Amino acid sequence: MRLLVTGGAGFIGSNFIRYWLRSHEQDAVINLDALTYAGNLENLRDIEHSQNERYQFVQADITDEKSITKIIGSEKPDCIVNFAAESHNSLAIVNPGAFFRTNVLGTQTLLEAARQNNISRFHHISTCEVYGDLDLETTERFSETSPYRPRTPYNASKAGADMAVRAYFETFGLPVTISNCCNNYGPYQFPEKVIPLFITNILSGEKLPVYQSSQNRREWIQVDDHCRAIDLILHQGKLGETYNIGTGIEKSVEEIAALILSALEKDENWKIYVPDRPGHDRRYLLDSSKIKQELGWQPEIPFNEGIQATIQWYQEHPEWWQPLRAKRLVQEAQWKNTNN
Ligand code: NAD
Repeated sequence: MRLLVTGGAGFIGSNFIRYWLRSHEQDAVINLDALTYAGNLENLRDIEHSQNERYQFVQADITDEKSITKIIGSEKPDCIVNFAAESHNSLAIVNPGAFFRTNVLGTQTLLEAARQNNISRFHHISTCEVYGDLDLETTERFSETSPYRPRTPYNASKAGADMAVRAYFETFGLPVTISNCCNNYGPYQFPEKVIPLFITNILSGEKLPVYQSSQNRREWIQVDDHCRAIDLILHQGKLGETYNIGTGIEKSVEEIAALILSALEKDENWKIYVPDRPGHDRRYLLDSSKIKQELGWQPEIPFNEGIQATIQWYQEHPEWWQPLRAKRLVQEAQWKNTNN
């Protein structure tokens, strides 16, 4: 199989490409990425160095209709997996337009090129955040049939993309699948997201900016468990269907901070509380019984094991993350200046 992976120079995309080339020895991967501040070919340097003939990189923007049509027309992939997105909720508050352009219009551009070239599968990577947020005390979970109630520009742009994917299935019969995953962690995550931000702050001698609503929590998955779920959907998922991917493991921001402080032998004085960003969601939790029952997926990496390995990875790879800290576009302590 020939896969076109968009956003393959980002965190999950690069882990997915490494996973796919390792797990499917006959397959080839084309990585299409615009290389925004979040895209980094260093994430795949090992694959480039090994001169793997089953891998190639093409720099292109998914909103650029002409380039996308040309690349998909000439490369003729069997399958497109769309990871490309503006992905940082905090950045979406200062620059929402970029999110709607890439996440909604970029996805539609890819869908149209897929339709014109009779691609046999378009898999779209989405997020738990499209469903809105949950009360901290509720026993409710989001299922695939929960209504979409996005609350931030990032979430709304991802929800818009999901709707476009569904429309191409219903209207044109494009063979699509969608997965909505919970929060990922693991190696090669840009140090703007909370786990690598906290780890690299401590390793750089800086305090952790903890949002005042520090009991807000997220459901966490190690990125390889996410990649295995996508693999199952690509091979056995039903066309037109959406699959939630979650572990059921929830941790508050406070718990994440405590865990990282303890692993790096630092005390509570390393935390500073900062105002929440506007629209800060309290909680997301997915009902992932559909993918478990229909496709037999289960998360395999226990949270404590995965997080300790991630902390260790950042300790061992300062040459990877140090140059990226200067590329961060938002500071989490800045929200006091916004009209919340
Ligand atoms: P990331 O920001 O690390 O990577 C995004 C990649 O997309 C980058 O390489 C960037 O250069 C590329 N890109 C951005 N705009 C582009 C454009 N216009 N054209 C081509 N490439 C472009 O993000 P990530 O965390 O790896 O997330 C990947 C996908 O997974 C996103 O769609 C995100 O919404 C989704 N997702 C992420 C999480 C998470 O916890 N990180 C959870 C659920 C879903």
